[in-house]
Amino acid sequence: MTTKRYVIAGAGFRGFCDALELAKIPQAEVTILETAPFFGGVMYSLDVDGFAVDKGVHVFDSIPKSLAEIVNEIMDGKTSEIEFISASAYNGKVTEGFSLPDLNSLDDRSLKDRIRHELLTLAKQGPSAIPPRSLHELFAGRFGQTAGRIYSDIFRKVYGLEASEVEPQAVAQTSLHRLKFLGDEEMLSLKKSDAWLDFVLAARRKSMGKVDDLVSIYPNDGLAMKGWCDRAAPWLESRGIKLCLRETIKTVRETPSGLVIETDKRRLEADHLLWSNDNVGALGASLGIDGETADKFRYGTPMLFIVMMTHATKIRDFTYLQNFDPAGITYRTAAAGIFSHQIRDGISFITSECPCLPSSERWKNAEAASKDAWEEVKHLKIVAPDATLVNSKVFRIPITFKLAKLEYSAKIQEFNERVAKKTRRVVLRNVVPFFRRDIYLDSLTVRGLVE
Ligand SMILES: Cc1cc2nc3c(=O)[nH]c(=O)nc-3n(C[C@H](O)[C@H](O)[C@H](O)COP(=O)(O)OP(=O)(O)OC[C@H]3O[C@@H](n4cnc5c(N)ncnc54)[C@H](O)[C@@H]3O)c2cc1C
Repeated sequence: MTTKRYVIAGAGFRGFCDALELAKIPQAEVTILETAPFFGGVMYSLDVDGFAVDKGVHVFDSIPKSLAEIVNEIMDGKTSEIEFISASAYNGKVTEGFSLPDLNSLDDRSLKDRIRHELLTLAKQGPSAIPPRSLHELFAGRFGQTAGRIYSDIFRKVYGLEASEVEPQAVAQTSLHRLKFLGDEEMLSLKKSDAWLDFVLAARRKSMGKVDDLVSIYPNDGLAMKGWCDRAAPWLESRGIKLCLRETIKTVRETPSGLVIETDKRRLEADHLLWSNDNVGALGASLGIDGETADKFRYGTPMLFIVMMTHATKIRDFTYLQNFDPAGITYRTAAAGIFSHQIRDGISFITSECPCLPSSERWKNAEAASKDAWEEVKHLKIVAPDATLVNSKVFRIPITFKLAKLEYSAKIQEFNERVAKKTRRVVLRNVVPFFRRDIYLDSLTVRGLVE
């Protein structure tokens, strides 16, 4: 049997899952090339005053048991099940046990009546046969004009971009996929009244019970996601997978016997190259075709990321709170120090992801923004009113959640076709899944793409 040589570009979670799957092929030789000096991509935590701090909320959430077993094996069993204690804020009010915007917080009853009326009309008409062209159209078509507009305003607050500029499938990346605008009882009875309403409306999870067979886990060795990244790399290597960090692909070309990949360090030969990252500009450059154009149709969601250290006892018992108030500074605030088991001399930390455009005053005066964020999290009762800010650090992160702007799908398809014309040995997938669960499930199909 001849050796099969697979090169994977990218050592994020996607590269990890693809490598695991390809290593199952008999006689497979799997090499991961990664430009960064660390393994794990976006999951690799920051070091902030000796604390390991994830760049945002990163959990192995709602994953299949088969993936949880792999994560546990890598962690030597050092994981805990996460019992999400989430909350959301809208119109200055906090809804416990709910992670979407709760429009029941609106003071104006007539607005809620209008939303109800529009929803019932939509339910009667049935879903439109014309697919929405933008996320804004999706909101309006799913929730009605009034709630749709409110959701578009919330979207702009969280992502700093108009929902009308984004492709509709971006909804899967947001916490805006369902609507709650009344109290729990009323929502449940509306949901029960119609199959379409059941699909588009939300009720608080605690009133619905456990809805699936997935698990949510998190490392408990006190090193946050970095703990997993640092263990996963040698674990892969112990399975014969070669991991090459700090290595950049320069050119890729097809020869009669396979692919020749030149990096800044050496020349490799491979039967297939799996592009397990979304940097199409770099792939285009290495093949001598244009990938930059497709890249321009992606939006990065810049954020200020604020780490606030305070006494652990002053942090309320919660996982995260999402503040959907358009006027708020913070979006998602997490008790990351507590659920990652990091308390030092009584001090732990919370993190806040704060949407912010690089052109704004807030971006320039990020230190001042972190003081305002502290006041806001106090107001939202995330920390006790008498909590003191022991220390804080603010990071400017220009790219967090990547969203497909209008036309991205068409551009990426064109790009993929151009790659396929050059070589069929570079494996690209049209749809790049967002959540770890979906990345893992997608990787289970990868053997079929190369064998
Ligand atoms: C703030 C935030 C929070 C999130 N939280 C969750 C969560 O809780 N649960 C969840 O399921 N999902 C979450 N996600 C989604 C997350 O993006 C995925 O779950 C997953 O970790 C992404 O993995 P990836 O490998 O696709 O991308 P990345 O982690 O970005 O990895 C891509 C890797 O490819 C490398 N690379 C880029 N270009 C090249 C090149 N030319 N050659 C070689 N290497 C290259 C990069 O350096 C990087 O290491 C979150 C995303 C963000 C932004």
